Amino acid sequence: MGTTRKVIIIGSGPAGYTAAIYAARANLAPVMFTGVQSGGQLMLTTLVENYPGFIEGIDGPPLMDSFRKQAERFGTEMIEDDVTAVDFGRRPLTVTGGDVTLEGHTVIVATGASAKLLGLPGESALMGRGVSTCATCDGFFFKDQNIMVVGGGDSAIEEALYLARLGRQVEVVHRRDALRASKIMQERAFKNSKVRFIWDTTPEEVLDPAQGKVTAVRLRNVKTGAIWETPVDGLFVAIGHQPNTALFKGRLELHPNEYIKVKPGTTETSVPGVFAAGDVQDFTYRQAVTAAGTGCMAALEAERYLEAQGVGH
Ligand code: NAP
Repeated sequence: MGTTRKVIIIGSGPAGYTAAIYAARANLAPVMFTGVQSGGQLMLTTLVENYPGFIEGIDGPPLMDSFRKQAERFGTEMIEDDVTAVDFGRRPLTVTGGDVTLEGHTVIVATGASAKLLGLPGESALMGRGVSTCATCDGFFFKDQNIMVVGGGDSAIEEALYLARLGRQVEVVHRRDALRASKIMQERAFKNSKVRFIWDTTPEEVLDPAQGKVTAVRLRNVKTGAIWETPVDGLFVAIGHQPNTALFKGRLELHPNEYIKVKPGTTETSVPGVFAAGDVQDFTYRQAVTAAGTGCMAALEAERYLEAQGVGH
């Protein structure tokens, strides 16, 4: 195990990298478990137009690459493994990933959230064979084809607009008759001649696993009960996210929706010395900039905690 680390960071999205930048600049020699797929949700995005500092916007992957290089420049040690176990019931705290177990005085949890699925027959079997949760990853495969997007939030509309550039037609299926997405995104979608809306409707089944590809989606109108099949080549599910907290159940206090509970106005969890930043504790704002903000808070709070414990720089 070796020496006890001052700060261990779990997760490499905007929250984790920002915590690393602040902790490294405070001489806390942070070590970060980046996860096998580093960079978080912005790695699955194209243009990010609302991260301050980029007048024309910036694509997600190069933005995260800059975050990472900035964290490395100040000496953050990166371990490219997923964390498989934590023990917060003892001191020092321990975090295990790959074949290493590290001891830490503090841990910053920044594991983010992942796309939710509908749980429909055919959905999992056809994942990667026509079903996707990431338009920018898989949209290319549906050039000039018919695409369906499920959801009514910003993600669904962003996916639909992106896919409209590639596909022949994009049908957005939403369970209500009003979108949750921001007005500016709604207006863009309503103006796009390739985007069509199917309101008050939910998918019931994805066809056809027997053929090993998506051929149609069985839909149900929630008001009339009508059921029908719409032929499509691709189905993009954009119905929100699930926090990545499986590792922390029973170890940190969670909300009923499984996001980590933090003391309001702080990143303090139910365990002293463990802080949570970014989407793993935020089901309200969920923005890259708010994730980065709470990453900064977590590093400053970890620094204060270490000082109070008499663990010097
Ligand atoms: P979201 O805002 O929670 O929207 C999820 C959508 O999926 C809602 O319309 C919801 O319907 C629908 N839905 C949920 N469960 C469903 C189910 N089982 N069956 C059918 N439909 C279901 O999630 P999001 O769109 O991923 O956005 C998350 C956050 O990120 C938001 O704060 C958003 O503003 C932000 N975001 C911003 C941008 C941007 O600014 N460019 C891009 C992406 C995301 P109801 O509306 O009926 O609940």
